[in-house]
Amino acid sequence: MTLLTETPREACDRKEFGFKRTVCGCQECSRNCLFIPGYLIPADLQRLLPTDASKSEWAEKYLRASPGGLVLYQGKAFRIPTIVPARKDNGSCVFHSEGLCTIHGVSPFGCAFFDNHMSDQEGDLRTRMGLASIIEGFHAGYGDLWRHLWEMNLRVPGPEESRARMDKAAA
Ligand code: SF4
Repeated sequence: MTLLTETPREACDRKEFGFKRTVCGCQECSRNCLFIPGYLIPADLQRLLPTDASKSEWAEKYLRASPGGLVLYQGKAFRIPTIVPARKDNGSCVFHSEGLCTIHGVSPFGCAFFDNHMSDQEGDLRTRMGLASIIEGFHAGYGDLWRHLWEMNLRVPGPEESRARMDKAAA
């Protein structure tokens, strides 16, 4: 896979569920790359995974299974398992290098379509669409890859733990 270090025009124009991608690279937004890399939706796997036999090997090197965040639905709390970028020993995203995202043009939905400046309402709407697409795609490959990574113990903590680490570092 070619790692992108610049932002081609089509990457800036990228859309998902009708939303335009965000491009903010301010310090506040970039902090997520150091502590809590964004989750992939099924469409990201098509963009990121190699199409040849090296697919599993690539996924084992660059992706991890997360238990996913807690969501509330009809008064019940449950988790939607997510696939996320692997992390370096310091907890930062494996694709983060010298302050930049090395896969910016094809970065995961959970990164590319959020920034720290959008309203909670906008963020919640995007989150709902992203998680709904994971539920929909879980039996069409996304779940198989998630289980594969989880069973190989290629896991990362859930977002609550990563967020707590980020808050602690900020304090
Ligand atoms: S994939 Fe890119 S934008 Fe997302 S956390 Fe990693 S470095 Fe940051």
